[in-house]
Amino acid sequence: MRNILFFLPLLGCIFILSCSRPAPAGDELRPMAQQTVTAEPQGEREAFIDDYWRWSFGDAGLPDELARKVAESAAQGPDFVMELLEILEGDPYLYILVDKQHGLPEGYEPEDLVDLSGGSYQVSREGLKLRRAAAAALEEMALAARTEGVTLAAGSAYRSAAYQAEVYAREVSNYGQEAADRESARPGYSQHQTGLAVDFAPIDDAFADTAAGRWLLKNAGSFGWSLSFPNGYEAVTGYRWESWHYRYVGNSLVRFIDTYFDGVQQYGLQFINAWIESSEPKRAGL
Ligand SMILES: [Zn+2]
Repeated sequence: MRNILFFLPLLGCIFILSCSRPAPAGDELRPMAQQTVTAEPQGEREAFIDDYWRWSFGDAGLPDELARKVAESAAQGPDFVMELLEILEGDPYLYILVDKQHGLPEGYEPEDLVDLSGGSYQVSREGLKLRRAAAAALEEMALAARTEGVTLAAGSAYRSAAYQAEVYAREVSNYGQEAADRESARPGYSQHQTGLAVDFAPIDDAFADTAAGRWLLKNAGSFGWSLSFPNGYEAVTGYRWESWHYRYVGNSLVRFIDTYFDGVQQYGLQFINAWIESSEPKRAGL
């Protein structure tokens, strides 16, 4: 009962928001959280609250302490839900969960890839590509770094599923499957296939102690970039610490992750994924 009371303010917020916002566009990845709650008959509110409580602590896979912190933030006022809805109304590939268990849609290939020209940053080789928004954000970030005397270099960026298959096979052949799985994704399951992830050079553990590595750790978030596989989170992300691998998620999502999820991208994306999935059965019944 205490749990239910806890979430009443949050539900109130969602009801208000769902009445005041237009329906989202028909993108298949776009969640329908607003409609879910709007369509909920009054008599089913308690059932909905029970669902909400269960998935926020179960399906999202958050540690108990963090889940409680998130739930408290959500219950405190409209900010949390407002920020979440703003993210969900944006490009779904900014927040899509891509990890060892969650792959991209079959054959996914971004439509707006552009060549990395190496404006304010260096490139390790020709032909590196990113999606347009990520490339622009990389240039903006690299320019800021350069004004502080730090040079960023892109070592790897977009990888097609076919190319990722080659990379993964090479890692397995060089280091064995177990070691390969700690730092290389199977095709279809790589953040690099989104066209939104960059490995900064040099791509090795020494990167963390370079000027670029330290600068990025401190400043990347201001430009919409998020460290995907932080130190000490292998059990959470499935990957060992990769100080060089950043994913562009946009400014709103970086702030959301920093504010509510201790800066851990994986937790924030797991939460959003659980939110979307919890909407699916209700959407089907509408
Ligand atoms: Zn990478």
